Order: sequence, then structure tokens, then C-alpha cells
Amino acid sequence: MDNLVRTIKATLTRKWTLMEICGGQTHSIMRYGLLDLLPDEINLIHGPGCPVCVTPVELIDMAVELGKRPDIILVSFGDMLRVPGSHEDLLSVKALGGEVRMVYSPLDALDIAERNPGKEVVFFGVGFETTAPAVALAIKQARLRALDNFSILVSHVLVPPAIEALLQDHQNQIDGFLAAGHVCTIMGTREYLPLASKYKIPIVVTGFEPVDILLGIHTCINMLEQKRSGVENAYVRSVKPEGNLAAQALLKEVFVRVDRKWRGIGTIPGSGLGLSETYLKYDAALKFKLQYVETEDAELCMAGEILRGRKKPSDCPAFGVLCKPESPLGAPMVSSEGACSAYYRYNRNSILETKK
Ligand code: SF4
Repeated sequence: MDNLVRTIKATLTRKWTLMEICGGQTHSIMRYGLLDLLPDEINLIHGPGCPVCVTPVELIDMAVELGKRPDIILVSFGDMLRVPGSHEDLLSVKALGGEVRMVYSPLDALDIAERNPGKEVVFFGVGFETTAPAVALAIKQARLRALDNFSILVSHVLVPPAIEALLQDHQNQIDGFLAAGHVCTIMGTREYLPLASKYKIPIVVTGFEPVDILLGIHTCINMLEQKRSGVENAYVRSVKPEGNLAAQALLKEVFVRVDRKWRGIGTIPGSGLGLSETYLKYDAALKFKLQYVETEDAELCMAGEILRGRKKPSDCPAFGVLCKPESPLGAPMVSSEGACSAYYRYNRNSILETKK
């Protein structure tokens, strides 16, 4: 690590702003104190790669509505339970007697459906390209096992359209991206080539250990200093250019691309996954005729600015005062991949000290 930090320092001739896409990388950066190790010329900003954070409030409201129905068991990843909807979260629904259950895998939700034939079981499917294949597999399995009481509230999102939306934002000051290694393990690196070429920017596939992140940063600033754009892979032990072809085939069979609203950011064309024609009967929004009601985010929360990389959690006046993990105003303080929760967990004392 020391060698990499020294090499980064020796490579730099000016200030560069890099965005790490993934919330898991943000947590590693904060947890291992990488901001303190890196020279001041490197400005790391945090991107929208936290699936819980970008799930739109409208879909949380739909999940809440489903969780309140006596004939439904609503199944979700744990982080989603405390994300505020427009009026309440899923944990409050559970506390008031709603059947809301937490699982670690969508396949667990299938088992719940099999064991409860008298109930409808809805899985709240959130996440990026990393979690979507497991959800696709669950839907295929539901069809094979003829589980007609199983459906999905789909909120899957895709990374490349989000990168493009950030690059089209005139306020963005991003010089290079650290792409999320696990997403590229599934999807490969090729879909980033047109973006790097169109916007003349370096995109470096980066892992999650501190040394992986330093290697990604070094690769990215090396490209910037040499005035090179393109896609480079600093996570070769996991990522192949073509990605995981079997997982991609599964995604292609079960999902189609749709426009998707990202919480705090707005609608990004082609940035979401919806169920394909063959699997539409497993779409919970259609099955239960849910209304998509446009809703505004909490006024005090500047999550949108943070997810776009315009601000950092330490810039938020509510950070650590009105907004804490036990009383979150926004999803980035709830999620285990949220930037606000990373700053709170690993750096709150010094941030709150400077605010005094
Ligand atoms: S600290 Fe809380 S209120 Fe501020 S942006 Fe983060 S989640 Fe929103």
C-alpha cells in the first residue's frame, strides 16, 4: 500500500477529481482511511452506486402498500426495511403487524412462497447488474416450479446509463471514473468503451480492497496525466472483458431495459430493468394494479446532490445532527453502502467537530 501511495504521489502534476461508482468502494475508502493516505491533489467523490439509495420513493411506497395487505408476504433485503418512503418505511409496517420478512437471497423468497400457498409472496427486487441475475434465476425457478403466488416488485438499475447521465450533467467536474468491479464481473468491460470514447474520459475497473482501490486510482491518474481516455482493468483477478456470459444470457431472457427513476436524480432513460413479455405475470406492480404516484424526496435531505457527486455527506447540514443511522432522513444514511452512513460510521467525530 505504501508503495502505491508513493507512486500515486510521484505521478501527480495537478489536481484530479475521480468518482468511485460503488458504495462498497466508498465504505472501503472511509473504513481504511484512504482519504488521509492520499495526497490533496486527489479529490474522491462518491457516485450513485448504492442500490438502496437510488430506489425511488414511489417504489418504497408501493412496497409499503403491499406489506400492509393481509394476503401478502412482502420479502426484501434487510437494508430496504428502514429506507423512508413518503410517509413510512417497511419496518413500521412490520411493527404494526404487516408480514414483512427479510432474506439474503431472492431464492429464499421462493421457498417462502412454496411454504405459504395460501398467501401471495412479493420479493422487492432492488440492485444493480450484480443482484439482477439471482432475481432472474428466482423468476425462472418460479415458472419451473409453477409458483403462481410469487411475484417481484422490480427496481433494478444499470450502471452505464447512470455514468452517461452524470457526464451529461453540466455541473459535473469528474475527470475519471473508478467502475464497480463486481458489476463488471457480470457484465464485462466492453459496454464502457463507447462511453469512454464519446466523453474522452478514463474509466478504470476497480475492486474493493484498499490495495485494489489504490491501484484503480493509480491507473486512472496515470491515464489522465498521459492525456489518455479509454477503459482499463485494475481488477483482473475477477473481471474478464466479456464478463459472465451465462449471467448475461439469463438477464437477457428475463428482463428488458426500461426507463427508471433514480431517487434524488430523476428519470434516466434505459437505466432500469423490467420483466420481459414472457415473465410479465410475475410483475407485482401489474398483478396488484399498483399506482405509480410521483412523490418528492424529503426537503432537508441533499442525497441527490451527493449521489451526483456535487456534494459530500460532510456538506449536509443535517449530517449527524438531524440525520443519524437511528433516525435517517435519507437512504444514504440507512444503507450499508450509502455514502452518508460511511462518513457517519468512520469519520463522524472529525466532521461534527469542524461543524462546531
Ligand atoms: S446526511 Fe442524511 S439528510 Fe444529509 S444527505 Fe445524507 S441521508 Fe440526506
